[in-house]
Amino acid sequence: MARKLAAGNWKMNGTGDSLAELEALAKGDLPKGVDVLICPPATLISRAAERADKIAIGGQDCHAAASGAHTGDLSAEMLRDAGASYVILGHSERRADHGESDEMVRAKTDAAHGANLVAVVCIGETLEEREAGSTLQVVGMQLAGSLPDGVTAQNTVVAYEPVWAIGTGKVPTLEQIAEVHNALRDALVQRFGNAGADVPLLYGGSVKPGNAAEIFAVSNVDGALVGGASLKSADFAPIIAALA
Ligand code: PEP
Repeated sequence: MARKLAAGNWKMNGTGDSLAELEALAKGDLPKGVDVLICPPATLISRAAERADKIAIGGQDCHAAASGAHTGDLSAEMLRDAGASYVILGHSERRADHGESDEMVRAKTDAAHGANLVAVVCIGETLEEREAGSTLQVVGMQLAGSLPDGVTAQNTVVAYEPVWAIGTGKVPTLEQIAEVHNALRDALVQRFGNAGADVPLLYGGSVKPGNAAEIFAVSNVDGALVGGASLKSADFAPIIAALA
């Protein structure tokens, strides 16, 4: 069985003061059997890691290269050195804002694995693609193209995040989530065998305290990647609790 993971993506939000939210979460009652991850902006990773206690800390992107002339970028090794143990890769905002292709995400995922980081690889369809009936085809292609060989249940997490559900308050129906997650599980098992059966599959897109429990009850949903509702411990804590 895949382990359960509640992951928070702070995106480009937060300064030193925001670490009080992380501390509040870390000091609260975290349920056993649920892994908790916070991915703050890179500027906060080392300070977050010092205060995180049982909460894992992750980056939001890394470069595919180990070092070199890439101004403004960070390597997977640098994230690891700063205290991260995970990195989000191929988030739809990176794909849209920075033109990241599946091939680039695959190279970054390889780099993350090489640096001993767990890669949280994001895929998801746009509204146009959903309305055209091509969701399963789109996410299937993204999954195949974004994951390198060598994926294990320990080094990789897949997050299904419909682009139209991110930050919009719109959520797919539970049937739509189940359809995609079941198809992703089948594809993971087909390619990676037993390891594919245990790769955690997260749903992401407008997860809130009020809808988390019903989403977590859907088959092959092993947790969530949460944006807005991960910024405040009072919102994120009940989401984590719903996964227990
Ligand atoms: C995200 O950014 O990955 C996300 C799911 O955001 P939100 O929860 O705010 O929709």
